[in-house]
Amino acid sequence: MQISFVDERLEDIYSKVLKNSRLSKEDGIRLYETGDLIGLGRIANHVRSSLHGNKAFYIYNEHLNYTNICKNRCRFCAYAKDRGEEGAYVFSMEEIEKRLMMHISEPIKELHVVGGLNEDLRFDYFIDLLKTIKRIRPHTTIKAFTCVEIDYLSNLAGLSLEETIKRLKDAGLEMMPGGGAEVLNSRIHEALFPKKIGHEKWLEIVKAVHKAGIKTNATLLYGHIETIDERVDHLISLREVQDETGGFSAFIPLAFHSENTGLSHLPPTTAVDDLKNVAVSRLMLDNFEHIKAYWVMIGESLAQVALSFGADDLDGTIMEERITHTAGAKSAKGLTRDKMKDLILAAGFEPVERDSFYNPVN
Ligand code: SF4
Repeated sequence: MQISFVDERLEDIYSKVLKNSRLSKEDGIRLYETGDLIGLGRIANHVRSSLHGNKAFYIYNEHLNYTNICKNRCRFCAYAKDRGEEGAYVFSMEEIEKRLMMHISEPIKELHVVGGLNEDLRFDYFIDLLKTIKRIRPHTTIKAFTCVEIDYLSNLAGLSLEETIKRLKDAGLEMMPGGGAEVLNSRIHEALFPKKIGHEKWLEIVKAVHKAGIKTNATLLYGHIETIDERVDHLISLREVQDETGGFSAFIPLAFHSENTGLSHLPPTTAVDDLKNVAVSRLMLDNFEHIKAYWVMIGESLAQVALSFGADDLDGTIMEERITHTAGAKSAKGLTRDKMKDLILAAGFEPVERDSFYNPVN
């Protein structure tokens, strides 16, 4: 397909893409820096269309955040509370059961389960949590715990990483979300989340998880103190892991929301930057099949546009999103399946409801 570019520097990148040649770090930086957003979007859309045609995926899912008490208190996090602080909570097994029963008649395909590092909980709580979900929803995939939680649980249980993953898997863990790394960079780690695991540990854990046969997603939290150079390094690190393990299912660029965080002076991300992150990740992550436009963070309308900028998945219905909304997200807290379908159709794509592993659901 012939594309005429306003920024001629995109031409040789497009030639590389047409030849299926891997893009370099310099290419990634140039893509982020270009003022030719439409040119960038057209290259990303070319890749997206060759992989998925006109299909756009979504999942019927629900989020369950078992506790917001967290010992780490990362600077960018609005969700975490200290024990005893107003609004702090932890769900007992009875409460989890009650919450799951609220939507039991709905054919939900995936439960997304994450929480803070709560020192009052023992390892058995997490095993019970997985088993309770499986008992109540035997046909729903459990996508649970970031690498940060896995590291915490391994220390809590006094077990090796491999044994921890095995016990969680035996109890029902089938997939993991992608958060926790934020940006794989020591400077940002020190400045924003020094108590949380650093990028080397995150990479070690994600590889161990993949090796155990559990797929994960990957993310990039952008729009705070990171530089373009650091964003591109992050994408390249993920690409290298994917070359090694093939264990990443989808990549999700996450737009930072600053309200109620230690970085509340920062402005929201712009639509241009949101679309660039979708398009650049589509092009740099040549070994990832799926790029998500996470509607909770960029809003439903921009997520529709992102489907023409490299994204092929709008994520899910969610039911009740808590984490990004405590940081000021203005999107809905959940969407119906009909709404997901309507958003995709109105954007000119064919909606495909999927399960956690991208099998179509009838
Ligand atoms: S980002 Fe995660 S680890 Fe950091 S404070 Fe929030 S819940 Fe805790």
